[in-house]
Amino acid sequence: MTIRIHPIKAFNDNYIWTLINKNNKQAIIIDPGQAAPVIEYLEAEGLEMIAIWTTHHHHDHIGGVAELQEHFPMTHLVAHSEHNVDEDQTIKDGSIVNAWGCSAQVWDVSGHTASHMAYILDIDGHKHCFCGDTLFSGGCGRVFTGTIEQLYASFERLSNLSDEALFYPAHEYTASNLRFGLSIEPGNVAMQQALIQAEEKTNQGIPTLPVTVAHEREVNVFLRADEPSVIAGVASKMKLDDEKPLTIFAALRELKNNF
Ligand SMILES: [Zn+2]
Repeated sequence: MTIRIHPIKAFNDNYIWTLINKNNKQAIIIDPGQAAPVIEYLEAEGLEMIAIWTTHHHHDHIGGVAELQEHFPMTHLVAHSEHNVDEDQTIKDGSIVNAWGCSAQVWDVSGHTASHMAYILDIDGHKHCFCGDTLFSGGCGRVFTGTIEQLYASFERLSNLSDEALFYPAHEYTASNLRFGLSIEPGNVAMQQALIQAEEKTNQGIPTLPVTVAHEREVNVFLRADEPSVIAGVASKMKLDDEKPLTIFAALRELKNNF
């Protein structure tokens, strides 16, 4: 199966990840916050949209859904019941979604919001994780309608994907996240190198995504809450009741909110 994965840019820094089947010129759109850039891209490439998958209910992820449904009446809309859209397939943790014979497992990775879903698409044994606003390269989503405990559990789960699996977050926040990470862990060489590369790419308008799970384990401070260097970095900035990974994770989120 040949599926190409392409980011359509929307708003300032959103990516609308698009699955493209080259054989039949069909496309599946993940989190269309805007309809116009999607329609423009599909028309330019001669593609027919057959499905939309949503990760959570925020406007910059579902804002274009209704217009796209009108434009492509045969669209199969996949969403959780709390995503505030008129879905055809209601998903929850453990659901399976189909993409031209490839299957995507649905995981509940709440924390940024409640009912935040991730899609783990398996293409010829390779895993592609569309994680919305839960995990960003070098960082994580803010806690809105979920809880920090949920977000921590979601990170634990995502970090168990295999080394070569790929994360496809929905925003280009990589460089600023790495700057925050280096404020905690200034001696992290992998993080320093990742920042140089991210700044180069961002300056050229090239996405820094996707990223491998192995890469994120090295450069994402939120996946490193049990590392002595991260604990020391957090402890130098705020008073901690204990050094449990969840405590460090929550402290990191709080420090990032004010970075
Ligand atoms: Zn969001």
